Amino acid sequence: MTSTDSASTSYGFVIDNRRCIGCHACTVACKSEHEDPIQVNKTWVSYIEKGVYPDTTRQFHVMRCNHCADAPCVEICPTACLTTRDDGIVDFDPGRCIGCKACMQACPYDAITINPDSGTATKCNYCAHRVEESREPACVVVCPAEAIVPGDLNDPGSKIAKIVASQDVSVRKPEKGTLPKLYYVDGDAAALQPAASIRTRETLWGEKAPDIVDDTPVAEGQIRSAAAGAPRRAYDIAQRHAGSWGWKVSAYLFTKSIAAGAFLVPALATLAGLHLAGTHLVGIVVALLALAATGVLLVSDLKRPERFLWVLLRPQWKSWLVRGAYIIAGYSAILLIMLALFLRGDGLGATSATVLAIIGCVLAAGTASYSGWLFGQAKGRDLWQSPLVPLHLLVQAMVVGMALFLPMVDATWYPQVFAVLLAVDLVFVVQDVWGRHQTADASRAAKLMRSGNWGVLLIAGSLLAGHVVPMFLCFSQGTAPQVLAAILAGAGVAIYEHLWVAAPQRVALA
Ligand code: SF4
Repeated sequence: MTSTDSASTSYGFVIDNRRCIGCHACTVACKSEHEDPIQVNKTWVSYIEKGVYPDTTRQFHVMRCNHCADAPCVEICPTACLTTRDDGIVDFDPGRCIGCKACMQACPYDAITINPDSGTATKCNYCAHRVEESREPACVVVCPAEAIVPGDLNDPGSKIAKIVASQDVSVRKPEKGTLPKLYYVDGDAAALQPAASIRTRETLWGEKAPDIVDDTPVAEGQIRSAAAGAPRRAYDIAQRHAGSWGWKVSAYLFTKSIAAGAFLVPALATLAGLHLAGTHLVGIVVALLALAATGVLLVSDLKRPERFLWVLLRPQWKSWLVRGAYIIAGYSAILLIMLALFLRGDGLGATSATVLAIIGCVLAAGTASYSGWLFGQAKGRDLWQSPLVPLHLLVQAMVVGMALFLPMVDATWYPQVFAVLLAVDLVFVVQDVWGRHQTADASRAAKLMRSGNWGVLLIAGSLLAGHVVPMFLCFSQGTAPQVLAAILAGAGVAIYEHLWVAAPQRVALA
């Protein structure tokens, strides 16, 4: 294999399924080459079985990073740990990784995992260190059947380019637009599309933990019955993505909603000439406390929390993690300035106060909504791809902000606006969960949200108790019903945000 610095080089792989014998030598060679711990599988072999004994077949598919030409993992990485080299290899530098797991959400192919020894992301890097010495990747050298063909796709004379040009090849999830450069000869949709085969707890050599919820569940034992002639995964690695963004991420969405809403509500009211007495200082203090909680949640969710400042100091500007961090930092600065002015009792001129309030509102709105674009960069999760997410997050922040001040404010218009906002949020939720979805994976995630315990939480907890009840309670006289309405509305938003974060991660990516 010839190494070249040419920017026109585009390394890729062909996996020839007519040759693969399913020996796992590539998996072992990869582990050995990179000295990976047992939990890390950068390349693995999935077995798909079809038919009913004795008329059965078994196929092998080698899975790994696709070295996508338009790699979403590179775009979302906040510290440029993941990069696309001039030769087309998507490489990573563990020395820059903060362990935010955003790349794991962005990769639609489950190709990235966290190395438990280092707490940093890891994946196939095409054995870039070997390529630089004009050697082939370890998996290629060890394959006894020459089923893995590496090379430069842009070189028409290369073996790989000739195969891609002359054979019927397929890639995983072409609809994602990532332009994968891992081609399969004789690839089977049952293996390449996660939902096209039955996923059971029983596998060839043992049982898997039920980490992924399949929407076509098969009872244990059914796998060998006549009814189970459908394609099924007889061997696979554990799915790595389920819950990699857990409760801390959904809690961060909620604390961010509080931080934004607590400032936005009194500030927007004032700008509209509807002064809400006694809410400004409370709003600023609550917003600052909520931002502090947001920071604690974000940092503690990192696998390398001691590197958290690298988001600001080593920024990769396409990542909404970076943009969001700067928006939050700017918003915090404005809040601190306003708090200092309040505490000193300094009056600002009307114009200066208005300018400060407008800047604060813009940054508060950005704080609430930037996560919509961040989740949109997580291309592996179809339910998060709606362009309406940033707007929905802003509405949620306004609901939480208005709930916060509901017991303090006696303006007659306030509960009316609050009820309208709750109704708008309800429409967003119903549309998200029960509306039409662009992809089957988005529908699967929505179905998970409305099924089982999650469905009870969503309908009874968020929709009814968290939206409908406060819509009526907020018009009641007296502090107790107002406090109850505020708590219920806040809980309704928190429950929805948690389910919305959790459910898409339960849909299998590979
Ligand atoms: Fe590899 Fe996944 Fe990144 Fe594509 S998105 S380059 S498959 S890690």
